[in-house]
Amino acid sequence: MKPCPRCELLNPDDGTVCACGFDLVLGDAGAVRGVLRRRGRWYQLAGVVLIAFGLAGGTAFLPIHISLFFDIQSYRVDMGMIVGGAILLSRGARLVYRPWTEKASSKRTG
Ligand SMILES: [Zn+2]
Repeated sequence: MKPCPRCELLNPDDGTVCACGFDLVLGDAGAVRGVLRRRGRWYQLAGVVLIAFGLAGGTAFLPIHISLFFDIQSYRVDMGMIVGGAILLSRGARLVYRPWTEKASSKRTG
């Protein structure tokens, strides 16, 4: 018998999922995945907002101009915010799709 780390219910040694839903084989991996995926979505959302804000002029509306500006015919784009948003987007995508959790066997061995 092995106790569930979450609810401490005793499960048979060959049990895979506890009655509370805890994965006894993968441990908290499922829950961690969910948290990371949610965090990734927030990164992506923040990235989209940053890019939209950058396209709309970004910090040009603010008294401080710390970003790089890129003028397209009298249309001012805040490159700093767009780059920052793109970084957030890619970081969020990495968290959501988690390429590092893919099975190693999917790599080519030849
Ligand atoms: Zn449990």
